[in-house]
Amino acid sequence: MYPNILRHPGPTPIPKKVLQAMNQDMISHRSEEFVRLYRETTNRVKPIFGTIQDILLLPSGGTAALEAAAVNTVSPGEEVVVITVGAFGDYFVSICEKYGFHVHKLEKAWGEACREEDLTEFLKPLSNIKAVFATYNETSTGVLNPIDKLAHVVHTCSDALFIVDGVSCIGGAPAEMDQWGIDILVTGSQKAMMLPPGLALLSISDKAWKVIEENKTPSYYLNLLSYREWASKGMTPNTPAVSLIYGLSAVCDLIDAEGGFSQTVARHDLMKNMVRAAMKALSIGLLTSDEVASPTITAIRTPEGIDLSSFIGHLKQKYHLDFAGGLGHLQGKVFRFGHMGYCFPSDILEAVSLMEAGLQDFSYSFDPGAGVKAAQNVFLAAHRK
Ligand SMILES: *Cc1c(COP(=O)(O)O)cnc(C)c1O
Repeated sequence: MYPNILRHPGPTPIPKKVLQAMNQDMISHRSEEFVRLYRETTNRVKPIFGTIQDILLLPSGGTAALEAAAVNTVSPGEEVVVITVGAFGDYFVSICEKYGFHVHKLEKAWGEACREEDLTEFLKPLSNIKAVFATYNETSTGVLNPIDKLAHVVHTCSDALFIVDGVSCIGGAPAEMDQWGIDILVTGSQKAMMLPPGLALLSISDKAWKVIEENKTPSYYLNLLSYREWASKGMTPNTPAVSLIYGLSAVCDLIDAEGGFSQTVARHDLMKNMVRAAMKALSIGLLTSDEVASPTITAIRTPEGIDLSSFIGHLKQKYHLDFAGGLGHLQGKVFRFGHMGYCFPSDILEAVSLMEAGLQDFSYSFDPGAGVKAAQNVFLAAHRK
């Protein structure tokens, strides 16, 4: 009966307008109507990526688009650098290793970001790097890598392509793909894009297209050249996720209604600040520093004296508040508070308030209301500006 308050890093809540937009009769993906929908919608997504390049749509999860980015640009035996600061960076390492790339892994402790200096030093002794892969927003730790600065390092220290997994932040974080020098930017539908799972979006620079044209590794379903060829006709090579494209069009309407994408980004930043202020006021630790904190997900340390899995289970069962647990070695040590996509400052006040109720149930020692008050103060300060 009670709605589930889904504060996960994906899938995330879907706006009613998006659900309604998806609930339509099917059309042929070879019809003029589809061509119009495809062209209009992909053009409207460009500002979210910060690009004038085409946006390609794959009927898949984000992983398939990451795999496409890898297999279309690099051949087995070629050298790549993968920057990993958590579970999803490791994911990218696995994809590259599966395809037999020679992987140089730039690893940072979970909770930290990769700094410019780290990458500059790492690239120094390397000379034959075909591509540098990085995660923009590390979903397991809530770290936003300084992707603009890393892009600059890649292009000043090498000829490599810079390929970025933006799955858990594009739609909620700033992105200037062309200006920063990202060669391939990938995202998925079910994180900050306010859609159900099943649609991957990616965009490709001119420099990357040249590399893709010369790449000899065979691929079929994930062949980006065939996506480009069909995109020039306003279509996709195979049957697309038509309903999700209708939904994507409604997502663009909602972003316009918010006052444009910069407002959407500002809302995510505000929600991040509200969550962090609340946890600090409750003396609950945060995994990352403020400087590298993600606008879409916050990793929160286990409150002192509490068994984390019982606490998360209790919040879900009693208050219908659904947080995500930790991944890998952070399981049992942190939980993750998702604030991306269809999520608003009011949702943060609600989640913090219910979390405080749970803390009282677990006899955690704190001043009741302190977290809500801190979040509300951040909210009020932003509105007084
Ligand atoms: C969720 C996620 C993925 C995987 O996306 P799927 O849609 O599950 O395939 C990849 N990278 C990051 C950073 C993610 O958050």
